[in-house]
Amino acid sequence: MSTDRFDLAIIGGGPAGLAAASMAFACGLNSVLIDENPGLGGRVFHGIETERDVSILGTDRIAATTLARDAREAATVLSGHSVVDIVRDHEHFQIKTLHGNELRSASARRLLIATGARERSMAFPGWTLPGVMTAGGVQTLLKGARLVPAGPVVLAGSGPLLLLVAVQLLRHDVPVAAILDTTPIANIRRAMPRLAGALWSGSVLRRGVGLLASLLWQRVPIYRGVNTIAAQGDGSIRAVTFKAGKRTHRLDCALLATHVGILPDIQLAGLVDCQLRWDASIPGWTPVTDRNGKTSQDGVFIAGDAAGIGGAEAAPHRGRIAATAAAVELGAIAPDEGDRLVTLDRKKLRRLNRERAFLDTLFFPSPDVRVPQDDAVLVCRCEAVSAGCLRALAAADVAEINHVKSISRCGMGACQGRVCGPLAEETLKDATGRSAEAVGTFRVRPPLKPVPIGAYAAFASDDPPAEARFLYTADW
Ligand SMILES: Cc1cc2nc3c(=O)[nH]c(=O)nc-3n(C[C@H](O)[C@H](O)[C@H](O)COP(=O)(O)OP(=O)(O)OC[C@H]3O[C@@H](n4cnc5c(N)ncnc54)[C@H](O)[C@@H]3O)c2cc1C
Repeated sequence: MSTDRFDLAIIGGGPAGLAAASMAFACGLNSVLIDENPGLGGRVFHGIETERDVSILGTDRIAATTLARDAREAATVLSGHSVVDIVRDHEHFQIKTLHGNELRSASARRLLIATGARERSMAFPGWTLPGVMTAGGVQTLLKGARLVPAGPVVLAGSGPLLLLVAVQLLRHDVPVAAILDTTPIANIRRAMPRLAGALWSGSVLRRGVGLLASLLWQRVPIYRGVNTIAAQGDGSIRAVTFKAGKRTHRLDCALLATHVGILPDIQLAGLVDCQLRWDASIPGWTPVTDRNGKTSQDGVFIAGDAAGIGGAEAAPHRGRIAATAAAVELGAIAPDEGDRLVTLDRKKLRRLNRERAFLDTLFFPSPDVRVPQDDAVLVCRCEAVSAGCLRALAAADVAEINHVKSISRCGMGACQGRVCGPLAEETLKDATGRSAEAVGTFRVRPPLKPVPIGAYAAFASDDPPAEARFLYTADW
């Protein structure tokens, strides 16, 4: 099979990847932009290219259509290509993508990972019932497939996305029965000293206040200090029970949408062995990068939320900075020219970081949403591993997450730990009292997503060692 060769491979077509593609082009690089979605835009601007009436969109979505159009002109775009493995081959990275049922391959001298964030899962009794899903998942169906859920909907958790999805549902005439806010009250006190700086530095906070006002105006009940959430139903969700203060409540609903923040998507960083660090402010694992997004691995850059949660406004700046650094490394532009190109981006990022610090403090998730309290609750739903099972392993001194994985199969299912990883790690930390570094994080193994065996069979590689790695190091 022939392999296309590029200077730079950008993985992820969100605002970071789109801006990186345009900057790479401006620096004279020949790049490929790869995204698993059928269209460009990433999570925040999902479906932007298929939006029929751009005039009804907000200003940021209109700007995003321009970003997407410019990126298409600047790079070879591979949409609907999911990156499932990357192997370094001398001076090049061999990137394998799954497109439909077919494995394809591209090669590049530098790699820019811009795969964004993923939602932190919340596990509680009944969370595996049909009708319980993440708020981001509800939003993706709304934006991408125009699938509007039947109400009434209850939203539970904390963070700006929860409020945004509630308002988006109301705009589609879906009844929102209530918002169950799990934000610890103590967080508000801790975040207050950062409020003034945050108000003038970014737009998330101001938008959040607008969303809250809209929900109050539409008389959506908001319960504060919520805990002990359980989904009730037989076959699918019928109601949700929870505690707010000393009272226990029950609300009927057809859909429960949960959201307790987002974490950097570290799968590709882990796959290419980039060094990770525990970021206690999120809390979660984050790739180690310098201020240009350069990682511990030669030739690998990370930008946008995949490099640490920075938000949609910061993502294009981070994409431009990383693409410029890659261009300097490849000798396409001089270092001082690179510095000049991103001066404004760095300035804007410094400002936006002030708002991020406020948001991280305000929405820091409480231990009871990070660790399932009930032993019977499944942590890994693919392999049916419960919180009780993880605690029993901890009691038997199995205290490192990859040891847990090999004994219990936790994280070895179709999601490959994307959903259960943070839950399993937090449960083990809580049960053993060990640090995040001591517990560790799931090692990433190719393929990242399930690949039909026929796709492997049909794939004739010009790189036998890479294929050998596929066969002998997969966890199953
Ligand atoms: C579910 C969800 C919904 C969100 N909704 C909003 C919102 O409405 N408003 C807001 O301000 N912020 C939202 N956020 C936060 C938002 O994602 C970011 O701040 C912003 O989009 C980050 O931009 P990015 O370019 O870093 O990544 P993203 O915009 O997330 O783009 C990453 C892209 O990488 C692609 N990708 C990932 N893995 C692979 C792979 N293996 N192969 C190929 N492609 C891959 C994804 O398909 C995606 O298109 C959301 C986050 C999540 C997780």
